[in-house]
Amino acid sequence: IVRAVNATKSFGSNEVLKGIDMDVERGEVVCLLGPSGSGKTTFLRLINQMEVLTGGRIWVQGELIGVREKNGKLYRRHAVDIARQRAGIGMVFQRFNLFPHMTALGNVMEAPVHVKRVPRAQARQRALDLLDQVGLADRVDYYPAQLSGGQQQRVAIARALAMEPALMLFDEPTSALDPELVGEVLSVMQQLASNGMTMIVVTHEMGFAREVADRVVFMDAGVVVEQGTPEQVLGQPREERTRSFLARVR
Ligand code: ATP
Repeated sequence: IVRAVNATKSFGSNEVLKGIDMDVERGEVVCLLGPSGSGKTTFLRLINQMEVLTGGRIWVQGELIGVREKNGKLYRRHAVDIARQRAGIGMVFQRFNLFPHMTALGNVMEAPVHVKRVPRAQARQRALDLLDQVGLADRVDYYPAQLSGGQQQRVAIARALAMEPALMLFDEPTSALDPELVGEVLSVMQQLASNGMTMIVVTHEMGFAREVADRVVFMDAGVVVEQGTPEQVLGQPREERTRSFLARVR
Protein backbone atom coordinates (compact mmCIF):
# COMPACT_ATOMS: atom_id res chain seq x y z
CA ILE A 1 0.00 0.00 0.00
CA VAL A 2 3.07 2.22 0.45
CA ARG A 3 6.20 1.95 -1.63
CA ALA A 4 9.09 4.34 -1.21
CA VAL A 5 12.00 4.11 -3.62
CA ASN A 6 15.14 6.07 -2.85
CA ALA A 7 13.09 8.76 -1.10
CA THR A 8 15.21 11.74 -0.13
CA LYS A 9 14.41 14.96 1.66
CA SER A 10 16.63 17.93 2.32
CA PHE A 11 15.94 21.13 4.18
CA GLY A 12 18.44 23.50 2.62
CA SER A 13 21.78 21.77 2.84
CA ASN A 14 20.58 19.40 5.55
CA GLU A 15 19.83 16.03 3.96
CA VAL A 16 17.41 14.53 6.46
CA LEU A 17 16.43 11.44 4.45
CA LYS A 18 19.19 9.88 2.40
CA GLY A 19 17.36 7.41 0.22
CA ILE A 20 14.66 5.45 1.98
CA ASP A 21 13.32 2.27 0.39
CA MET A 22 10.30 0.85 2.09
CA ASP A 23 7.30 -1.32 1.25
CA VAL A 24 4.30 -1.58 3.49
CA GLU A 25 1.67 -4.20 2.66
CA ARG A 26 -2.03 -3.79 3.23
CA GLY A 27 -2.90 -4.81 6.80
CA GLU A 28 0.69 -4.58 7.97
CA VAL A 29 1.73 -2.78 11.15
CA VAL A 30 5.18 -1.24 10.82
CA CYS A 31 6.89 0.43 13.77
CA LEU A 32 9.55 2.99 12.97
CA LEU A 33 12.20 3.36 15.63
CA GLY A 34 15.24 5.51 15.79
CA PRO A 35 16.98 8.29 17.65
CA SER A 36 15.68 11.83 17.66
CA GLY A 37 16.47 13.58 14.41
CA SER A 38 16.82 10.37 12.38
CA GLY A 39 14.05 11.48 10.01
CA LYS A 40 11.09 9.37 11.16
CA THR A 41 8.65 12.26 11.38
CA THR A 42 9.84 13.65 8.08
CA PHE A 43 9.19 10.29 6.43
CA LEU A 44 5.60 10.21 7.72
CA ARG A 45 5.09 13.81 6.59
CA LEU A 46 6.28 12.89 3.09
CA ILE A 47 3.80 10.01 2.86
CA ASN A 48 1.05 12.39 3.93
CA GLN A 49 2.31 15.17 1.63
CA MET A 50 2.86 17.62 4.42
CA GLU A 51 6.34 17.83 2.90
CA VAL A 52 7.42 17.51 -0.70
CA LEU A 53 10.03 14.93 -1.70
CA THR A 54 13.43 16.18 -2.78
CA GLY A 55 14.20 13.01 -4.74
CA GLY A 56 12.94 9.49 -5.29
CA ARG A 57 9.35 8.37 -5.41
CA ILE A 58 6.58 7.29 -3.11
CA TRP A 59 3.47 5.42 -4.15
CA VAL A 60 0.42 5.13 -1.91
CA GLN A 61 -2.32 2.74 -2.93
CA GLY A 62 -0.58 2.29 -6.27
CA GLU A 63 -0.48 6.00 -7.14
CA LEU A 64 2.55 8.23 -7.24
CA ILE A 65 1.96 10.89 -4.63
CA GLY A 66 2.32 14.57 -5.35
CA VAL A 67 3.27 14.03 -8.97
CA ARG A 68 2.05 12.13 -11.97
CA GLU A 69 4.09 10.67 -14.75
CA LYS A 70 3.40 11.32 -18.41
CA ASN A 71 5.70 10.34 -21.27
CA GLY A 72 8.50 9.75 -18.81
CA LYS A 73 8.18 13.19 -17.24
CA LEU A 74 6.88 14.08 -13.80
CA TYR A 75 4.24 16.75 -13.35
CA ARG A 76 3.04 18.20 -10.09
CA ARG A 77 -0.50 17.07 -9.29
CA HIS A 78 -3.36 19.55 -8.94
CA ALA A 79 -4.37 20.60 -5.45
CA VAL A 80 -7.67 18.71 -5.62
CA ASP A 81 -5.83 15.56 -6.58
CA ILE A 82 -3.41 15.98 -3.70
CA ALA A 83 -6.32 16.57 -1.35
CA ARG A 84 -7.93 13.34 -2.56
CA GLN A 85 -4.70 11.41 -1.97
CA ARG A 86 -4.30 12.89 1.48
CA ALA A 87 -7.90 12.07 2.41
CA GLY A 88 -7.02 8.37 2.17
CA ILE A 89 -4.47 8.69 4.95
CA GLY A 90 -5.20 9.28 8.61
CA MET A 91 -2.58 10.88 10.79
CA VAL A 92 -2.31 11.13 14.53
CA PHE A 93 0.30 13.47 15.96
CA GLN A 94 2.21 13.69 19.17
CA ARG A 95 0.08 16.66 20.17
CA PHE A 96 -3.61 16.04 19.89
CA ASN A 97 -4.47 18.89 17.49
CA LEU A 98 -8.19 18.81 18.19
CA PHE A 99 -10.38 21.80 17.38
CA PRO A 100 -10.72 23.38 20.83
CA HIS A 101 -14.09 24.99 20.16
CA MET A 102 -15.74 21.72 19.13
CA THR A 103 -16.90 18.80 21.24
CA ALA A 104 -15.45 15.32 20.77
CA LEU A 105 -18.40 14.53 18.54
CA GLY A 106 -17.96 17.76 16.56
CA ASN A 107 -14.29 17.03 16.04
CA VAL A 108 -15.00 13.56 14.67
CA MET A 109 -17.86 14.75 12.41
CA GLU A 110 -16.01 17.76 10.99
CA ALA A 111 -14.07 16.26 8.09
CA PRO A 112 -16.70 13.80 6.87
CA VAL A 113 -19.30 16.59 6.76
CA HIS A 114 -17.14 19.37 5.35
CA VAL A 115 -14.63 17.50 3.24
CA LYS A 116 -16.49 14.38 2.18
CA ARG A 117 -19.99 15.93 2.17
CA VAL A 118 -21.43 13.05 4.16
CA PRO A 119 -24.98 13.89 5.33
CA ARG A 120 -24.91 15.17 8.93
CA ALA A 121 -27.12 12.46 10.43
CA GLN A 122 -25.01 9.74 8.88
CA ALA A 123 -21.73 11.40 9.92
CA ARG A 124 -23.09 11.78 13.44
CA GLN A 125 -24.02 8.12 13.74
CA ARG A 126 -20.65 7.03 12.43
CA ALA A 127 -18.86 9.44 14.80
CA LEU A 128 -20.81 8.06 17.75
CA ASP A 129 -19.85 4.53 16.74
CA LEU A 130 -16.18 5.51 16.44
CA LEU A 131 -16.15 7.30 19.80
CA ASP A 132 -17.72 4.18 21.28
CA GLN A 133 -14.97 2.07 19.69
CA VAL A 134 -12.28 4.18 21.35
CA GLY A 135 -14.08 3.93 24.69
CA LEU A 136 -15.50 7.45 24.82
CA ALA A 137 -19.24 6.85 24.40
CA ASP A 138 -19.81 8.82 27.62
CA ARG A 139 -17.66 11.80 26.58
CA VAL A 140 -19.05 12.71 23.18
CA ASP A 141 -20.28 16.14 24.30
CA TYR A 142 -17.08 17.13 26.11
CA TYR A 143 -14.72 19.76 24.79
CA PRO A 144 -11.01 18.95 24.41
CA ALA A 145 -10.10 21.05 27.47
CA GLN A 146 -12.45 18.88 29.55
CA LEU A 147 -10.72 15.67 28.48
CA SER A 148 -7.47 14.08 29.65
CA GLY A 149 -4.58 13.81 27.21
CA GLY A 150 -5.31 10.12 26.69
CA GLN A 151 -8.96 10.84 25.98
CA GLN A 152 -8.03 13.65 23.58
CA GLN A 153 -5.67 11.35 21.75
CA ARG A 154 -8.42 8.73 21.44
CA VAL A 155 -10.72 11.42 19.97
CA ALA A 156 -7.91 12.24 17.52
CA ILE A 157 -7.76 8.58 16.49
CA ALA A 158 -11.55 8.46 16.04
CA ARG A 159 -11.37 11.67 14.02
CA ALA A 160 -8.77 10.20 11.68
CA LEU A 161 -10.79 7.00 11.30
CA ALA A 162 -13.91 8.97 10.39
CA MET A 163 -12.44 9.60 6.96
CA GLU A 164 -12.18 5.83 6.43
CA PRO A 165 -8.48 5.94 5.64
CA ALA A 166 -6.71 3.09 3.90
CA LEU A 167 -3.64 3.81 6.00
CA MET A 168 -3.02 5.31 9.44
CA LEU A 169 0.16 7.13 10.37
CA PHE A 170 1.01 7.66 14.02
CA ASP A 171 3.79 10.03 15.07
CA GLU A 172 4.76 9.27 18.65
CA PRO A 173 1.10 9.31 19.68
CA THR A 174 1.84 8.64 23.34
CA SER A 175 5.00 10.62 23.95
CA ALA A 176 3.18 13.74 25.20
CA LEU A 177 1.04 11.76 27.63
CA ASP A 178 1.37 11.20 31.34
CA PRO A 179 2.60 7.65 31.85
CA GLU A 180 -0.68 6.41 33.31
CA LEU A 181 -2.54 7.48 30.15
CA VAL A 182 -0.27 5.75 27.65
CA GLY A 183 -1.87 2.33 27.99
CA GLU A 184 -5.38 3.40 27.00
CA VAL A 185 -4.12 4.90 23.74
CA LEU A 186 -1.89 1.93 22.92
CA SER A 187 -4.75 -0.46 23.53
CA VAL A 188 -6.97 1.42 21.07
CA MET A 189 -4.13 1.22 18.55
CA GLN A 190 -3.67 -2.47 19.24
CA GLN A 191 -7.37 -3.06 18.65
CA LEU A 192 -7.16 -1.12 15.38
CA ALA A 193 -4.22 -3.27 14.30
CA SER A 194 -6.06 -6.46 15.09
CA ASN A 195 -8.99 -5.24 13.01
CA GLY A 196 -6.62 -5.22 10.05
CA MET A 197 -5.78 -1.51 9.72
CA THR A 198 -2.56 -0.73 7.89
CA MET A 199 -0.43 1.34 10.25
CA ILE A 200 2.95 3.01 10.31
CA VAL A 201 3.79 3.96 13.86
CA VAL A 202 6.71 6.07 15.02
CA THR A 203 7.11 5.13 18.64
CA HIS A 204 9.48 4.67 21.51
CA GLU A 205 7.11 2.16 23.11
CA MET A 206 9.13 -1.02 22.78
CA GLY A 207 6.41 -3.15 24.34
CA PHE A 208 3.95 -2.02 21.69
CA ALA A 209 6.48 -2.63 18.91
CA ARG A 210 7.23 -6.09 20.24
CA GLU A 211 3.61 -7.13 20.62
CA VAL A 212 1.82 -5.39 17.79
CA ALA A 213 4.28 -4.72 14.97
CA ASP A 214 4.56 -7.12 12.07
CA ARG A 215 7.80 -5.42 11.21
CA VAL A 216 10.17 -3.05 12.96
CA VAL A 217 12.25 -0.60 10.96
CA PHE A 218 15.20 1.04 12.65
CA MET A 219 16.30 4.35 11.17
CA ASP A 220 19.33 6.44 11.99
CA ALA A 221 20.67 9.60 10.35
CA GLY A 222 18.28 9.42 7.42
CA VAL A 223 18.78 5.80 6.43
CA VAL A 224 17.12 2.49 7.24
CA VAL A 225 19.76 0.69 9.27
CA GLU A 226 17.90 -2.58 9.64
CA GLN A 227 14.44 -4.04 9.59
CA GLY A 228 12.72 -7.29 10.33
CA THR A 229 10.33 -8.92 12.73
CA PRO A 230 10.26 -7.53 16.28
CA GLU A 231 12.01 -10.70 17.43
CA GLN A 232 14.88 -10.07 15.03
CA VAL A 233 15.32 -6.33 15.36
CA LEU A 234 14.56 -5.97 19.06
CA GLY A 235 15.77 -9.40 20.17
CA GLN A 236 18.79 -10.02 17.98
CA PRO A 237 19.79 -6.77 16.26
CA ARG A 238 22.48 -7.28 13.68
CA GLU A 239 23.76 -3.71 13.56
CA GLU A 240 25.79 -1.98 16.23
CA ARG A 241 23.76 1.23 15.82
CA THR A 242 20.55 -0.65 16.54
CA ARG A 243 22.09 -2.31 19.60
CA SER A 244 23.31 0.93 21.10
CA PHE A 245 19.94 2.62 20.47
CA LEU A 246 18.07 -0.23 22.12
CA ALA A 247 20.43 -0.18 25.06
CA ARG A 248 19.63 3.50 25.57
CA VAL A 249 15.83 3.27 25.35
CA ARG A 250 15.42 0.20 27.49
P1 ATP B 1 12.10 13.10 16.66
O1 ATP B 1 12.03 11.76 17.31
O2 ATP B 1 12.87 14.09 17.44
O3 ATP B 1 10.79 13.63 16.15
P2 ATP B 1 12.69 12.32 13.97
O4 ATP B 1 13.45 11.10 13.72
O5 ATP B 1 11.23 12.27 13.76
O6 ATP B 1 13.03 12.87 15.40
P3 ATP B 1 12.60 14.51 12.15
O7 ATP B 1 11.61 15.23 12.96
O8 ATP B 1 12.15 13.88 10.89
O9 ATP B 1 13.32 13.40 13.02
O10 ATP B 1 13.76 15.50 11.86
C1 ATP B 1 14.94 15.17 11.17
C2 ATP B 1 15.78 16.39 10.93
O11 ATP B 1 15.12 17.26 10.03
C3 ATP B 1 16.08 17.22 12.17
O12 ATP B 1 17.45 17.54 12.13
C4 ATP B 1 15.24 18.45 11.99
O13 ATP B 1 15.89 19.55 12.54
C5 ATP B 1 15.13 18.58 10.50
N1 ATP B 1 13.86 19.22 10.07
C6 ATP B 1 12.62 18.68 10.20
N2 ATP B 1 11.68 19.50 9.70
C7 ATP B 1 12.33 20.60 9.24
C8 ATP B 1 11.92 21.82 8.60
N3 ATP B 1 10.62 22.05 8.34
N4 ATP B 1 12.87 22.69 8.27
C9 ATP B 1 14.17 22.45 8.51
N5 ATP B 1 14.63 21.34 9.12
C10 ATP B 1 13.73 20.40 9.48
